[in-house]
Amino acid sequence: MSKGKLILIGVIAALVAGFVFFDLGQYFSLDYLKSQQAAIDATFLAHPLLTAGGFFLIYVAVTGLSLPGAAIMTLAAGAIFGLLWGTVIVSFASTLGATLAFLVSRFVLRDMVQAKFGDKLKAINAGIEKDGAFYLFTLRLVPAFPFFVINLAMGLTPIRTGTFYWVSQVGMLAGTIVYVNAGTQIARIETLAGILSPTLIASFTLLGIFPLLAKKIVSMVKARQVYARFKRPRRFDRNVVVIGAGSAGLVSAYIAAAVKAKVTLIEKHRMGGDCLNTGCVPSKALIRSAKFLSHVKRAPEFGIRSASADFDFAEVMERVQKVIREIEPHDSVERYTGLGVECIEGEAKIVSPWEVRVNGQVLSTRAIVIAAGARPFVPPIPGIDQVAPLTSDSVWGLRKLPARLVVLGGGPIGCELAQAFARLGARVTQVEMLPRLMIREDPEISAMVLSKFRAEGVDVLLEHKAKQFLVENGEKILVCEHAGKEVRVPFDEVLVAVGRVANTTGYGLEELGIPVTKARTVETNEFLQTLYPNIYACGDVAGPYQFTHTAAHQAWYAAVNALFGSVKKYRADYSVIPWATFTEPEVARVGLNETEAREKNIAFEVTTYGIDDLDRAIADSEAHGLVKVLTVPGKDRILGVTIAGEHAGDLIAEYVMAMRHGIGLNKVLGTIHIYPTLAEANKYVAGNWKRAHAPQGLLKWVERYHAWMRG
Ligand SMILES: Cc1cc2nc3c(=O)[nH]c(=O)nc-3n(C[C@H](O)[C@H](O)[C@H](O)COP(=O)(O)OP(=O)(O)OC[C@H]3O[C@@H](n4cnc5c(N)ncnc54)[C@H](O)[C@@H]3O)c2cc1C
Repeated sequence: MSKGKLILIGVIAALVAGFVFFDLGQYFSLDYLKSQQAAIDATFLAHPLLTAGGFFLIYVAVTGLSLPGAAIMTLAAGAIFGLLWGTVIVSFASTLGATLAFLVSRFVLRDMVQAKFGDKLKAINAGIEKDGAFYLFTLRLVPAFPFFVINLAMGLTPIRTGTFYWVSQVGMLAGTIVYVNAGTQIARIETLAGILSPTLIASFTLLGIFPLLAKKIVSMVKARQVYARFKRPRRFDRNVVVIGAGSAGLVSAYIAAAVKAKVTLIEKHRMGGDCLNTGCVPSKALIRSAKFLSHVKRAPEFGIRSASADFDFAEVMERVQKVIREIEPHDSVERYTGLGVECIEGEAKIVSPWEVRVNGQVLSTRAIVIAAGARPFVPPIPGIDQVAPLTSDSVWGLRKLPARLVVLGGGPIGCELAQAFARLGARVTQVEMLPRLMIREDPEISAMVLSKFRAEGVDVLLEHKAKQFLVENGEKILVCEHAGKEVRVPFDEVLVAVGRVANTTGYGLEELGIPVTKARTVETNEFLQTLYPNIYACGDVAGPYQFTHTAAHQAWYAAVNALFGSVKKYRADYSVIPWATFTEPEVARVGLNETEAREKNIAFEVTTYGIDDLDRAIADSEAHGLVKVLTVPGKDRILGVTIAGEHAGDLIAEYVMAMRHGIGLNKVLGTIHIYPTLAEANKYVAGNWKRAHAPQGLLKWVERYHAWMRG
């Protein structure tokens, strides 16, 4: 804790101790006030400004220090200054004092509380950021909540100080008036409890709840308004229409059919979407062939004197297509029709909140799920049109290996494909404008990937910004800027992998006025509802993640909410999201890494285990990488895990399960892992954590016990 905070705590503690020690509480009682009223009145008449000023300061101090006495002082204000001035003085003094208490709590405690419980407080923080003023107003008006608790608790939340001040002032006004008014007839008051009658308490409570109710009603009216310009069909042909048959759309349709809803799935291109046709499946198939070649090159490491591979790139790419064909039946029209889904090939267009047009036919439906996916983003770099850039959509059509390939982008897709093409024999130059590959991961993970890439011959150019594409004497050149200088990279093909952009145009969103976010994804609420509560969006089109498993995860929420939302709606839960990048070393993550924990100011401990020490990894000649676990300081609760190494994407599953179900490192350690497996790394990192937290004091005594036992 900083020196400033310690001093502040010391000062406050001294003042509170002084209050208790000198029994100052006796001066804040009804009896004392009544007994001193004549003297106070005389002082006020003699020195009105001084009395008002002194009263104001004492009031601020009492509320600022969260001391008991504010209620009595409010009565006193009525007795001394009358209803108008009493109210004015108390209103400002109480708000100022409350704000001071709020600021002290924020300064001293907020960072600590947020660091310790930040992940648990996420929902509260989000709620306060969105509706903090409403909640505070309600709390201020409902007399059941003591004001000093509200001040201190609000200081721990992200509510803005200005908002806290004015909402407090307005929210406390009604109560202030009641008390000050009572104070004007102080002689008649016997107890403090009598001031607020049950009817008055109930009225305040209603008044407090009113803004929240009003907000709900406004949002219901707004929801009705967005539908106002459309005619709602009297009956619907379908329960739900799903647009797009990628991971998100397929799962949505599957769930709808499983619960016997009438569902139509519309796909304009290929069933299976990106993942099957141009994403996960082809990339992993290509990576497998490339990995085989890398093993051939590493033959001596396995005790094989020499090995060579004779291959044709076109055949490797044909294998990729064969893999797609083998998996295709899982996502086929036949399978889904068999499951009870009506599949339509064609381009869907939403024409009203309840109608979708496809192939000239208009389908009426209670709900719509948009699962239209994303496409590669091609940046508008001057000259890019002249060089016919490849993207993750088109690269699978290559049958001739480019001799010199530029991969633009150092994210997961760029990295996976750069390494695969290099292993297949292309001279790959990977260009990234940021200082690291895979920027979302921790720096040492990026460094591991970088060093492997460079060792395998990928020319990785970091902090190189692509400025222009040129064609000079028939040769394609990428011009980059690096440290203020121009760098020219000649190439035969360029693969652009600088991100993916959601498909949000051309199928009715613009006409319906469905908004998109800053990230250019369809805007949804936590239930995955768009502006029209019966139109949902999931998968890449909705973000925030762009993975097959997150698309499928969201699809469950979209489908269930679309079908059963009038009974019960579920908030999409993003608390434990894993992912992997299938480079070598493979990198997998769940939860926080160090970089994010620091950015979010969440306290953590790091425990690592080097896979270079693992028996199975050594036996496999794959002794590289690490498991890195972030835990709550002093506890075994897991905040996040990063694994770099062979089969990291599989190994992380144990930690995904642990985090999802609140299992800590002690339990991972207490679980039998088969020897010799890579999965043992998960246990060993838990062992490292345990050793670091061994009770040293106790162990000293145990050592003495053993010595004593030896005689
Ligand atoms: C090279 C690459 C590798 C990847 N590797 C992985 C990986 O290893 N693991 C992983 O989890 N993720 C990976 N991804 C990401 C993954 O492919 C996507 O996150 C996933 O496919 C998203 O699914 P989706 O259903 O949201 O969208 P999509 O799969 O894009 O499906 C959307 C579908 O909607 C259709 N559509 C759009 N508009 C209309 C319309 N108006 N009417 C009818 N149909 C329409 C499209 O034709 C498309 O078929 C990879 C992506 C790429 C590009």
